[in-house]
Amino acid sequence: VTSYRPPLRDIQFVLDHVAGLGEILSSDRYAHVDAETLREVLGEAGRFMAEVVAPTNVDGDRVGSQRKSDATVVTPPGFKEAYRQWVDSGFGAMAFDPDFGGAGFPRVSALAVLEMMTSANMSLSLCPLLTQSVIEAVDAYGSDGQRNTYLPKMLTGEWTGTMNLTEPQAGSDVGAVRCKAEPNADGSWRLFGQKIFITYGEHDLAENIIHLVLARTPGAPPGTTGLSMFVVPKFLVNDDNSLGVRNDAFCVAIEHKLGIHGSPTAVMAYGDNGGATGWLLGDEFGGMRYMFTTMNSARLSIGMEGLSVSERAYQDALAYAQERQQGTAVGAPKGERSFIIEHPDVRRLLMTQRAWIDGMRCLIYSNAAAVDRADAASTPDERVRWQELTDLLIPLSKALCTDLGNEMTSLALQVYGGMGYIEESGMAQYYRDARIAAIYEGTNGIQAADLVARKLGIRAGGVVFDLLDEFDDYARSMAESDVLSAFSASLAAAIETARSATSHLVATATTDLRSALSASSPYLRLLGTTVCGGLLARAALAASNPENGDDEFLSAKISSARFFGEQILPTVSGLLPAVLANSDELYRLTPGQLG
Ligand SMILES: Cc1cc2nc3c(=O)[nH]c(=O)nc-3n(C[C@H](O)[C@H](O)[C@H](O)COP(=O)(O)OP(=O)(O)OC[C@H]3O[C@@H](n4cnc5c(N)ncnc54)[C@H](O)[C@@H]3O)c2cc1C
Repeated sequence: VTSYRPPLRDIQFVLDHVAGLGEILSSDRYAHVDAETLREVLGEAGRFMAEVVAPTNVDGDRVGSQRKSDATVVTPPGFKEAYRQWVDSGFGAMAFDPDFGGAGFPRVSALAVLEMMTSANMSLSLCPLLTQSVIEAVDAYGSDGQRNTYLPKMLTGEWTGTMNLTEPQAGSDVGAVRCKAEPNADGSWRLFGQKIFITYGEHDLAENIIHLVLARTPGAPPGTTGLSMFVVPKFLVNDDNSLGVRNDAFCVAIEHKLGIHGSPTAVMAYGDNGGATGWLLGDEFGGMRYMFTTMNSARLSIGMEGLSVSERAYQDALAYAQERQQGTAVGAPKGERSFIIEHPDVRRLLMTQRAWIDGMRCLIYSNAAAVDRADAASTPDERVRWQELTDLLIPLSKALCTDLGNEMTSLALQVYGGMGYIEESGMAQYYRDARIAAIYEGTNGIQAADLVARKLGIRAGGVVFDLLDEFDDYARSMAESDVLSAFSASLAAAIETARSATSHLVATATTDLRSALSASSPYLRLLGTTVCGGLLARAALAASNPENGDDEFLSAKISSARFFGEQILPTVSGLLPAVLANSDELYRLTPGQLG
């Protein structure tokens, strides 16, 4: 395991030249933020993640969080101290409302901090990640009293938050939630039921935990329309904001799992001792709507896990490839033991990771920038346009990047050969940690269904077609450059493939939904790869513009974008037959014949 090197210049390059940070900062909403301050804050955050957070990662995996017999949970060595420094740093409040102690920075800058924290220690990063979802929900739908009670302490991180959707019978099917809420005379509610898989449901990092719980009120209709959202603090909060009575919300077990051992995944029992006291957030039956609001940013953050863990694993793989000697590379003097980085297949492993990491970073930061642009829009039309782009890109950021998290950590492990399979090298941890991101926050299958069944429905695929039109401009500009002309041709071909695939699915989704859903995962890969290709074209054009300078960093950016364009982007055409096929082949075998 090498020490973590925060990729500050890579992040800044994408912010400036792909995500359009300059335009965001020039809007009225972000007039108080200047680019130089932002750059310094990111530099400071990078230093913090490398020096304070990253050293806790290996113990986090080996020791893990542990539940004690008194229902408390002890986090691994180093977590408490690193988290205390995180609270002191104020990074958690960066993108939130200044009225509650935030700095009001754009969302995309907070995501850059999250990228580095997740690379440094994915398990620890989940605690602020979930807290931010709770902050967003309380900020958007809470009463003034709730906002004043919970937000200031959650913005600093002194109190943390959890999201409680899942129950044994209610996973992807959130509408099957059974947890019950009964009204009290004073306006509060008593909650009863069990929630499973609750990230940071119990821990020793903060003095209070604010649980957001989806539950059903008496007489509520079945399904998602009957769900309401409740705020259930671990310790009730007194009028003077001091901590009061311990609530009837307890961790009864934590899961033993494949990865993210440092992050406690709790089974929570609400109301076993007479009822957990909670308060309705917003309106009765508003639960699912509120959940959707926080979902976009949570899905973006989980997509980031794919990128962050890939980046960390790549850094280690690159270092190993430069120190491990095996065989004699083609062209090396006879008898020389070459570093494995000289072998073509190892080069391919490294270039593939590098190119996809650049592509993922372009996608996720552009998605987060679209959120900021929607927030900062000066006209309703502009707001709608950025919101539509945000909504389209969310399933791509979440599912493509987390699938790639699995693939890229596997490639990084491969660079290590047998040592990669041995825990000591650290590669196994990245591989195991990355695995969950394709599952939680809506499995990648659910993301693909969302893309095809909902997002393509916006203006009959119009958001996709607008984006592809923009990529056409890049293909035209690249055609004029010697270095980028082959990339230009493959981008033009991918755009055409994506157009046909999209038109086909827009039509099929209304006439044959089962076939459209059968095509959903190959389509997500096809469109996601094309979007990464288009955004990398934007990056390559910026890197080759002499106005932006000329140095090794920029020429390396052009090279990895070209590699993506010439050798990875053409894979989209191979996905088209699976998109155009109907569902017959998937259903030809009976469940018995599949055996
Ligand atoms: C480590 C960890 C942490 C978690 N943290 C939290 C948390 O903090 N809060 C919380 O509420 N939950 C949390 N979860 C739960 C997580 O969000 C669920 O596991 C996830 O939503 C999937 O639900 P499930 O496990 O019941 O799988 P299922 O829904 O049973 O899915 C099984 C398979 O069927 C597929 N499938 C199911 N329905 C459909 C459909 N309609 N169309 C196509 N495919 C479908 C899925 O894609 C999947 O491949 C966590 C889970 C884990 C493992």
